[in-house]
Amino acid sequence: MSIEVAKLTIAGVTAGLRSKEFSAEELCREALAFAEAENPKTNAYLTFSPDRALAAARRVDAKLAAGEDAGSLAGVPVAVKDVIVTKGLRTTCGSRLLEHYVPPYDATAVQRLEQAGAVIIGKTNCDEFAMGSSNENSAFGPVRNPVALDRVPGGSSGGSAAVVAQGTAVVSLGSDTGGSVRQPASFCGVVGITPTYGRVSRYGLVAFASSLDHIGPFGRSVADAAALLGAIAGRDEADATSAFAPVPDYLADLNGDVRGKKIGLPREYFKGLSSETGDVIAAAVKVLESLGCEPVEISLPATDYAIASYYIIATAEASSNLARYDGVRYTTRPKDPATLADMYRSTRGEGFGAECKRRIMLGTYVLSAGYYDAYYRKAQQARSLIAQDFARAFENVDAIITPVSPFAAFRLGEKTSDPMEMYLSDIYTITGSLAGIPCMSVPAGVTPSGLPVGMQILTRHFDETGMLRLARAYEAGAAG
Ligand code: GLN
Repeated sequence: MSIEVAKLTIAGVTAGLRSKEFSAEELCREALAFAEAENPKTNAYLTFSPDRALAAARRVDAKLAAGEDAGSLAGVPVAVKDVIVTKGLRTTCGSRLLEHYVPPYDATAVQRLEQAGAVIIGKTNCDEFAMGSSNENSAFGPVRNPVALDRVPGGSSGGSAAVVAQGTAVVSLGSDTGGSVRQPASFCGVVGITPTYGRVSRYGLVAFASSLDHIGPFGRSVADAAALLGAIAGRDEADATSAFAPVPDYLADLNGDVRGKKIGLPREYFKGLSSETGDVIAAAVKVLESLGCEPVEISLPATDYAIASYYIIATAEASSNLARYDGVRYTTRPKDPATLADMYRSTRGEGFGAECKRRIMLGTYVLSAGYYDAYYRKAQQARSLIAQDFARAFENVDAIITPVSPFAAFRLGEKTSDPMEMYLSDIYTITGSLAGIPCMSVPAGVTPSGLPVGMQILTRHFDETGMLRLARAYEAGAAG
């Protein structure tokens, strides 16, 4: 038997199980074999989890045989970014420091996936501690973009975007702090969602910048990504910042009318855009117009402060969060250090890559007594201005449409020597992260050379439903 794993959707898996075309165990074996065979092309998986996957698949088969409800994600092969902890399964965060770290517990999102019947087949490669925009900061080698193997998949969730684009998982989980779900989704031509801050529990997401970190889903369709979001969203006692707001049925609400919806086009986001990307987004806006949406030009004047304030706040939080990797806990300790200070120094000196070190130094600096007011407090003020810009805009529009990234996937090595240039990859995604509003990337077309371009949709806090409906309407409208 051969299942076309690369083309499967969640609905396809459900239908296949119901009609007994395949069992969850058969699908799991095929999916694992396919993923293992394809992986050398992209290096998107760091670890496969056949034992855990087969156990999950057998649980699904047993439930189905007993006539029980096996869950909304029953039998679906899923991949999880390697910054999300999995009990008994190595979780490296793309770092040499955690190369052998095996967590003693599951992240809430992982628990919820498996409760919904999902089959976790492996952990995906990413930039070290989710710091990066190209997946080139992984200690375990870069990921290649399955659409064009000489190009980056974006980052930091490059592996999770690549496996969905390549078809070696049906859906996946990534994490987004400043763009790490949306930007790789855009580069790889898949759907990626960053929900409202607090919508999905961060328990078990290894912390990079806690006030900005989100777990978010990838899928090849809006419906698949929405289904995954529905399965992991909702209040969690273990994360005090997770929201009490009830979780709507995203799938049930997906296919509503979007006629009359006002979509804001912020002029600041279309200034320095390459024409390759700009043309695709302009055409996408035309599709939305043809569906009855009403485009309105708006202004988000604090956008200019986004990159600077993000790289102060994110590095400040990272310098504090990463202090725990000291050789005492989690990590392999260097052999026989002479003193405690030596142990700290060698653990951190050898364990962290260049980007993490750069950020720890910058973050420590901006938090230091003499500079706190000059940098950190100012950045927090700018963050408030950015959030106010959005709040004001949403008084007049239902959603905001922007490009995801100023450019499409670049070549491996093209931007590694210039961190500032790399940081510009996230110029359009960072604002939504700082404001904590829901945002997503939906495939909008390709450049003349065939590289995917994503359109970003942003809505009010907790209006994932409105965002997903617009994305779905666009997806259907663009397909003609
Ligand atoms: N590229 C951004 C950074 O390097 C965002 C990363 C992320 O969202 N995790 O910080």
